Amino acid sequence: MSLTTDRFEIEETFLEGEEKYKLLARLMPVGVFSTDKDGLITFYNEKAAELWGRRPKLNDPEEKRFCGSWRLFKEDGTSMPHNQCPMAKSLRYKKSFRNEEICIGRADNSRINALVNIDPLFGLHGQLVGALNVFRDITSLKNKQKRRNRLAAIVESSRDAIISQTLDGKIISWNKGAEKIFGYTNKEIIGKNINVLIPPSHHHEESFIIEKIKNDESVENFETIRLTKDGREINSSLTISPVKNDLGEIIGASKILRDITDKVKVENQLREHAEKLRELNIYKDEFMSMASHELKTPLTVIKANLQLLEMQMANDPRKNFVDTTMKQVNKMSHLISDLLDVSKMQAGRLHLNSTILDFNELLNETVENIQHTTTTHKIIKTNLKGHFKIQGDRIRLEQVLFNVINNAMKYSPSSKKIIVKADYSKNKIIVSVQDFGIGIPAENLKMIFSRFFKVKGIPSTFSGTGIGLYIASSIIKRHGGKMWVESELNIGSTFYFSIPSSK
Ligand code: ADP
Repeated sequence: MSLTTDRFEIEETFLEGEEKYKLLARLMPVGVFSTDKDGLITFYNEKAAELWGRRPKLNDPEEKRFCGSWRLFKEDGTSMPHNQCPMAKSLRYKKSFRNEEICIGRADNSRINALVNIDPLFGLHGQLVGALNVFRDITSLKNKQKRRNRLAAIVESSRDAIISQTLDGKIISWNKGAEKIFGYTNKEIIGKNINVLIPPSHHHEESFIIEKIKNDESVENFETIRLTKDGREINSSLTISPVKNDLGEIIGASKILRDITDKVKVENQLREHAEKLRELNIYKDEFMSMASHELKTPLTVIKANLQLLEMQMANDPRKNFVDTTMKQVNKMSHLISDLLDVSKMQAGRLHLNSTILDFNELLNETVENIQHTTTTHKIIKTNLKGHFKIQGDRIRLEQVLFNVINNAMKYSPSSKKIIVKADYSKNKIIVSVQDFGIGIPAENLKMIFSRFFKVKGIPSTFSGTGIGLYIASSIIKRHGGKMWVESELNIGSTFYFSIPSSK
């Protein structure tokens, strides 16, 4: 007989001889080998050689006995000497072994799992003559099993409910998480319809979900209500995916359900608190607005009277007192105006008297006015070359420049220089005001334009209310621009604002 890969040519008598069995063994998709009574390998087929990864010599006392593999391992991964393998035991105890698992180690360090079946062979007088071993590769089966076990463990230990069902709603699997959330045990629920977990008013959702699943679509984070065994409604977030069989056909759905009742409760509480806070804020703003108005009226009278006194006391040495009082009254008046502005901005009632303005003129005049009020700082100004028009409220824009330049002076007591620059690019003017003062810690930069925000830890000699920059940035926003800052602690700050402009 000659054997080629795809064609057998046999002699007429072949089917009657021993050759027949050898050919059978050779063609079998399982490993087959035999040993004599001392464990010397007397025969093995192709598959056995393939699984061992080697070709041991037959009947060779120098070769490994009992098994042709290079090494053997137990299920726990520890090494198993060849004389303790099932084949050795079968010869020793003259016993058959069924479906024993072993692990074969090959010379290239790879391992395969095998299931072995062994029968001892006896001679005509009952004496042991050897053993026959049939073994097959179950590595991929084992790996699949391991993966399945791992997945099953994850599903079991999950705190979420993981449920699978058929397309017509029959529940087919139910994990511990589901038991905890819904109160049904595995036994009570398997085989029941999924609708027992859905309040009647939500039954329609199921057909919508199943339609999606049939189209091989998943549904993610679907927030809804579900029903527990004791009739409680729980807020749930559902993620649903199709389940397919080996042929890729959709046969059901797997649902992961998270109980979000607590989360929804906290969200509702937060919403209620936010609403209360908003109401209180409105009261506060209304109070601030009312108080500022009420304070403004007597202050105007005080101011007018002081001005009269000032005029009448031209050469009086006590005029000094009136002057100092006037300065303080002006400070108070500014503060009250600022508070009124904040109220108006909060209520969206800040009115702008917009006109077309020449930007350079506005900048020159404002800087000059501020320069007159100080002897401690020199304001160095770089103008824009040419005429630039902006549309805006002159007084409000002066207020912005006034606030930023005054801050620059206030927060740089040991330096004399303030640099004010204007640049034009892409239809907007960018103004920068740079000082070389105390700077702002990086972590405070984000909040610097917030209402009432003041950098913590700066000496109390720097008085202020923390509303100037809020007002300034709101005014700039209303003009279609924006305001920002760059600053380094103890080096200085540069405040920028942009405003739309045309040449
Ligand atoms: P304030 O009346 O407190 O100056 P602002 O709103 O104008 O209010 O400023 C908010 C805070 O920003 C100030 O309290 C100060 O801590 C910080 N700040 C503003 N400008 C500067 C600056 N040029 N250098 C350093 N810190 C500044």
